[in-house]
Amino acid sequence: MKLTLLGTGDAVGTPKIGCHCPACEDARLGGKSQRLRFSILVESDKGKILIDTSPDLRQQFLRQNLSLIDGVIWTHGHYDHYSGFGEFYRVQRKVDVYGIPETLDYINQYVSFLEPRYHYLKLYESFELIGLQFTLFKVDHPPVEVPIGVIIREKDTKVVITGDTGPEIPEASLELMKDPDLLIADAIVPPHIRIKKHMNSEEATALAEKLNAKEVVLTHLSHLFRPHNIESIFLPLGYDGQIFEL
Ligand SMILES: [Zn+2]
Ligand SMILES: [Zn+2]
Ligand SMILES: [Zn+2]
Repeated sequence: MKLTLLGTGDAVGTPKIGCHCPACEDARLGGKSQRLRFSILVESDKGKILIDTSPDLRQQFLRQNLSLIDGVIWTHGHYDHYSGFGEFYRVQRKVDVYGIPETLDYINQYVSFLEPRYHYLKLYESFELIGLQFTLFKVDHPPVEVPIGVIIREKDTKVVITGDTGPEIPEASLELMKDPDLLIADAIVPPHIRIKKHMNSEEATALAEKLNAKEVVLTHLSHLFRPHNIESIFLPLGYDGQIFEL
C-alpha cells in the first residue's frame, strides 16, 4: 500500500493567519513548515481511500493530480477533518463515506446536499476496501464522544493512524495498535506544552515506543514547532506530500 500525507497541519494550518513566528515565516517563504489541514490518501492497486476531508481538499487534489476516489473514512466530526467534503461538489457524485454512526450523522448535517452514500461501521470490526483491511478503534479526544483511529492491514503489513487523540487511549485499542510497521501519530505541540485533547511530540514518541512501532511519523502539527528543517533533525515530523510505500 501507499500512503500520502496530504496535510500535516493542525486545525488552523501553518502559516496561521496573522502570525509571524519563525515557523509561520518559513511557511510563507514556501518551506516545509507550510502545512495544510489533515487528510491522508491511502492507495492500493485496486483504488484510493481518503482518511478525512481537509478544508484544504481542493488544493490537495490539485497538487497530487487526484480526481476520483473510492471512499472516505471520517475519524471525527471536527471542522478540520470533514469540511472539505464540499469540494466534491460537481467533481464526484455520491461519494461512499464510512464511519461510526455518531460521526456520520453529525457530518451529514453539513454535507447532505452532496448525497453521500453512508456506510455505518462498528468499532473494532474489520472491513475491506480497495483490497485492504481497515479497523476503527476508539481514541481520546474530548469532548468528542467517540473519536477514532484507523488500522490498515495488507498481508503482514500494518499501519496505524491515531487520528486526533490525547494520551489516554483505551486499553482495548492499544492492544490492537501493537507492532505497527508505521505509526502516524497526532503530535500537535512540542514537549514543553501539554494539551489534554491532543498528544504533544513527547507523548506521541512514547506511544510509538510502547507500541513497538518500526517507524513513526508525527502529524497534525501546529506552528509552535521550530521551522521544519530544524525541528525535523530532532523529531520525525511529517510534511505535506510525504509518501510511504509499504
Ligand atoms: Zn484536528
Ligand atoms: Zn506562527
Ligand atoms: Zn479534532
